[in-house]
Amino acid sequence: MDIEYRDKAMETMDRAALEAHQLQALRETVRQAQKTSFYSKALAECRLEGPEELHSLADIRKLPFTSKQDLREAYPYGMLAVEKEEVVRLHASSGTTGKPTVIYLTAEDLRACTAVTSRSLIATGAGVQDVFQNMMTYGLFTGGLGLHYGAENLGMLVIPASSGNTRKQFRMMHDFQSNILHATPSYLLHAYSQMGEMGYKLSDFNLQKAYVGAEPHSEDTRRKIEELLRIDVYNSYGLSEMNGPGLAFECVYKDGMHLWEDAYIMEIIDPDTMEPLPDGEEGELVLTILHRKAMPLLRYRTRDLTRIIPEPCPCGRTHRRIARIKGRTDDMLIINGVNVFPSQIEEVIMKMPEVGTNYLIVVEKQGALDKLTVKTEVTRELLTDDTRDLYKLKQRIRENLKASISISATVELHEPDFLPVAQGKAQRVEDRRKPV
Ligand code: ADP
Ligand code: ZN
Repeated sequence: MDIEYRDKAMETMDRAALEAHQLQALRETVRQAQKTSFYSKALAECRLEGPEELHSLADIRKLPFTSKQDLREAYPYGMLAVEKEEVVRLHASSGTTGKPTVIYLTAEDLRACTAVTSRSLIATGAGVQDVFQNMMTYGLFTGGLGLHYGAENLGMLVIPASSGNTRKQFRMMHDFQSNILHATPSYLLHAYSQMGEMGYKLSDFNLQKAYVGAEPHSEDTRRKIEELLRIDVYNSYGLSEMNGPGLAFECVYKDGMHLWEDAYIMEIIDPDTMEPLPDGEEGELVLTILHRKAMPLLRYRTRDLTRIIPEPCPCGRTHRRIARIKGRTDDMLIINGVNVFPSQIEEVIMKMPEVGTNYLIVVEKQGALDKLTVKTEVTRELLTDDTRDLYKLKQRIRENLKASISISATVELHEPDFLPVAQGKAQRVEDRRKPV
């Protein structure tokens, strides 16, 4: 396979040199962080006299963690490390789990961000030849603008379509013959289910690739999108606190996401003890962003669960990969005492070809017990007068769920387009036990 790089020296740098670069950048980042009211206090409390006390990368453990709550408390300007005049952009997280948090970038920060996003895109083989329809929401959310600049920088023709208005999306795909899409996986599945009704078929388009991210999804969901749309689907991970998408991206081998280690330092910790875990073990991803002048963030607790894949990748990049995100530490459901991640349920149902493109998990109280209901749409082919197939499918889903998560769930099957569709990130769980 022909491998193209944006910055070959950096992308394939040997580990020792890469780690030396990280240590140097970490010291600079701590120096920059000391300029903020938040970190000057936090660093003083952890009794680190100064960045010169960081002798090796392992010394990162001397630094304090930063949480989403810290960012909220520092709102609006408590974490700014430069004069406001130097800031050219702000972004905010979508607030999936509460009040939004804000990040700031200088012009130089933006250029650094573009450098890693364009690297991410070229890793999938993208370039000047491509027409890129960016179907992620533009605005405060980093999803839209995040890849936009990287794609422009590579010379791709960028269509800033933003999310929603499926009919218009199809029209653009058709008229401009877009060959690369960027969207949430749930939106791509939804769009596919609308295609026929809106008068289009796959052969009207020139689709070749899609970048999907912003929400957890299973390997089977990826495969489903690849088969339905007959394209290659690449996983893209990012969060607004770390400048959004482009942080970790799959290369042409589609086997874990390269996290750009010259721009970030990653750690995996046990979320309960906060102790570091060895490479390969699953835990919470903790990230330090390097070189960001406007808003340094040290050891940010992402709450996302993953593991480091330490083996080298055949593409030649030396930056380590992370595995598909399993979920967030805070989206784990406890159902009658059993711990379940929504991703485990998705894995079971998306394996079945009869299952359609949308599903919803409902947890509620039934007397003293918790009741789990999995609602899923079925494909149009299953909607015949003979209900035996539906009955059998329901039975199989129930059995497979029981085998995988040890819970007897109620399964509801619905016709296509029955379940609600979100414009941005899909809302897959309705926990009715929580007081609203
Ligand atoms: P929030 O959702 O916290 O308001 P963001 O909009 O920045 O903030 O979303 C970032 C979060 O989205 C990540 O922390 C992660 O939980 C989720 N996410 C992003 N990309 C992926 C992906 N490829 N796979 C799984 N989860 C993802
Ligand atoms: Zn690779």
